[in-house]
Amino acid sequence: MRLKDTIAAISTPLGVGGIGIIRTSGPKSEEIGQLLFKPRKKVDHFKNHHLYHGDIVSLQTGTVLDEVLITIMRKPHSYTGEDILEINCHGGPVILQAILSEVIKSGARAADPGEFTRRAFLNNRLDLSQVEAISDMIMAKSRKGLDLAISHLKGNLSKKVHTLRSSIIDVLAILETSIDFPEEDIEILPISELGGKIQVTIDDLRKLLSTYYEGKIYRDGITAVITGRSNVGKSSLSNKLLGEKRSIVTSTPGTTRDFIEEVINIKGIPLRLTDTAGIRDAENIIEKEGIELVWQKISSADIVIIVLDGSEKLISEDLEIIKKNRNRNCVLVINKSDLPHVLNVRELDNILHSAMRPLWISAKYGDGLPALKEHIHSLIISNTDDRQSEIIITNLRHKTALEKTAGLLSKARENILEGISPELAAFDLRESLESLGEIAGETINEEVLDRIFSTFCIGK
Ligand code: GDP
Repeated sequence: MRLKDTIAAISTPLGVGGIGIIRTSGPKSEEIGQLLFKPRKKVDHFKNHHLYHGDIVSLQTGTVLDEVLITIMRKPHSYTGEDILEINCHGGPVILQAILSEVIKSGARAADPGEFTRRAFLNNRLDLSQVEAISDMIMAKSRKGLDLAISHLKGNLSKKVHTLRSSIIDVLAILETSIDFPEEDIEILPISELGGKIQVTIDDLRKLLSTYYEGKIYRDGITAVITGRSNVGKSSLSNKLLGEKRSIVTSTPGTTRDFIEEVINIKGIPLRLTDTAGIRDAENIIEKEGIELVWQKISSADIVIIVLDGSEKLISEDLEIIKKNRNRNCVLVINKSDLPHVLNVRELDNILHSAMRPLWISAKYGDGLPALKEHIHSLIISNTDDRQSEIIITNLRHKTALEKTAGLLSKARENILEGISPELAAFDLRESLESLGEIAGETINEEVLDRIFSTFCIGK
């Protein structure tokens, strides 16, 4: 990683917009600004964090490329902790490219994805969990997901991790004193108390870990499939939930061929909804393969919405679909409530669990949809009611590091309590500090960093 050079990128999306922004970071930022920017009023010295109005001109020809506003943000008070030049120009792709090319000719190089944020990390402006929070903010799929990312960016997770680290260090210090001075009469905590102290930290870690399911739901959302035999109204339901006509709705069985996946928001939870092809006895090979894919999709979904046709009698296909899914998170919907009720709900009694109450809806007219959404929401959050921690973790990398830490602490605790070897216990405690340090990026290798920053866009 070269930190001495100056990087540049277009930070706004490459489309047409009111404003576009080009950013540089590094020691040449101010010089580049002085070379390319011609202010409307004479400026002897660019003040820090001030906007200046003027033109960007071509280095070679002197022609004006755009009328702009620029800002110089000097280190260390900038996003990256380095000197930054920000050029606010008009948001056209040709303008942006032309200005970027002048900036590069003036001594900058094109930035890699996430390189601005990587510099912020390397210059200790952000720790790694905050870096990830920035990515989560940009990618947030719901308001709640955004709130969680902001909480992490503010450093709430980092503070918690710091507290956990301090308590491990406390125990380690006591243990190491007893190893270094075994003969001396140093007042150290009794073994059981030491074990108890470790247990408190393990409990704290477990509380934090127990929030992952909820955090993941808000960050990534959950997947739901709508299933049922042909013509029961799956596409109609999907369209109604999505609020737009996307799948083809037809009364000829088997016409919804491809998966249609869209995200809807149920009380702040992003729900990725998949409409599947009608499940029925396949008449040809292609359809058989399609049906196989449907089963795969259903088996990996978090929630299954089974649709029955209330205007017809139950048939064996309906029962087969219910039986296959009844042990999972599933919602049973009886559609076409606007037509005469022919389906006999009693016939379902034998195959449904007591908790599975079918909901009557009309996908065509929207009747019963609010109750359906409410039901889906309660099914998702039912697992999160007993949350014990204020801070919610959302990231698999953090979860893995916390689990590893808890495992090492448990080993250390057992070792201490069994009086086997304080050296071994101290080793495990040191390892646990290492794995906890991965969250903030204190103990992380380049490969992991590369992977994290490669998911960022260029210019961030
Ligand atoms: P899919 O094969 O399960 O996806 O079923 P579709 O959504 O294509 O619907 C099949 C037929 O049932 C279409 O003619 C729809 O207009 C009709 N349909 C769907 N939902 C309702 C409903 O709630 N009431 C009535 N009366 N007809 C519906």
